[in-house]
Amino acid sequence: MEDCIFCKIAKGEIPSAKVFENDKLVAFNDINPKAKTHILIVPKKHIESVKHLEEADKELIGELFLVAKKIAEEKNLQGCKLVINVGREGGQIIDHLHLHLLSSDATGV
Ligand code: AMP
Ligand code: ZN
Repeated sequence: MEDCIFCKIAKGEIPSAKVFENDKLVAFNDINPKAKTHILIVPKKHIESVKHLEEADKELIGELFLVAKKIAEEKNLQGCKLVINVGREGGQIIDHLHLHLLSSDATGV
């Protein structure tokens, strides 16, 4: 957990282009964007992956999606893709749960 890059970004120990932050979540531009808009929405709490979610995380995960909605609205996106990779076999590289918000332009995915 001490070496977790997204924990360090959440604490401000590693710089990132933040687009949203509150006490529970942070959102920042992906360093290697796969679409015109590619934002990662990350709980500040270290949760390794969806496989590691607990009952107590219910509200946090709800907020994760509400932040995605808020960012998409603010950026006037007509559509987007929301993706969570789970485990190496699911394409997850960073072992700290994150939601990808992807959109090609302001009119769709
Ligand atoms: P995943 O494959 O779902 O684990 O996605 C990890 C994502 O994190 C990739 O899209 C990377 O480009 C992105 N990423 C890795 N390091 C950074 C960083 N320092 N700042 C922003 N995004 C990063
Ligand atoms: Zn972490």
